[in-house]
Amino acid sequence: MQAVSVAHFWRLGEQVSSSKAPARRATALDAELFAIRLGVVKATSFDVKCIIIITDSLTAARRAVDASVHSGQAHSLAIVQALRGFFTNHSDRLIHFWDCPSKAQWSLHFLAHEDATSTKIAAGCHPATSLDALQSKSAAARATRAILNHASIGEFRQCFFPAECTYCPCGHCQVETCRHIFANCRRFAYFPLTDLVPTVKDFVKFLKEHPSAFAFSSQDRPPSKLPEPP
Ligand SMILES: [Zn+2]
Repeated sequence: MQAVSVAHFWRLGEQVSSSKAPARRATALDAELFAIRLGVVKATSFDVKCIIIITDSLTAARRAVDASVHSGQAHSLAIVQALRGFFTNHSDRLIHFWDCPSKAQWSLHFLAHEDATSTKIAAGCHPATSLDALQSKSAAARATRAILNHASIGEFRQCFFPAECTYCPCGHCQVETCRHIFANCRRFAYFPLTDLVPTVKDFVKFLKEHPSAFAFSSQDRPPSKLPEPP
């Protein structure tokens, strides 16, 4: 089955439209980013001054306005293009991103969530596959690194290469530990592992939802130093 992305449009308390599209073979984060694209592109076509995007993933919201190379970059570029037209010559226009966890079952978000999860679309023989979905296939190797604490993270470098940087690439942790990655790092906030003893099912899901966790990537190099506090 393919992932499905859905956006519902509400204005002045009434649903005025909806969009739904297959997201091909993609992670939940990719599908959420596509849903934000559907929402932003449609909403900016209306004559409105303020857009509120309700999502269950602030990670997807951040990716939405990040035009750099990443999984689902095409969605981000479409969003940025739509927002450029929305804001150009209109300094009074606003867009807000509201974080609404699916488990809260808040009505507006829950309706769209149910719409997406209840729609089944066959993947076909050769569905397009996102970068993150491809990388999620490497979950077995990354699981081994995480379990053995033998991965390219600050905790490992502190032990075996003490002269090297131990900071987390998120910039908010002096020593990038497994615990930080699982529960507190904003890079992996889409599906955090907050239980001290997570189930194997949740552990595997965490790795699949976060393909860069415990992976070797030039994009995960830590900063030379932590940023100064604001
Ligand atoms: Zn971090």
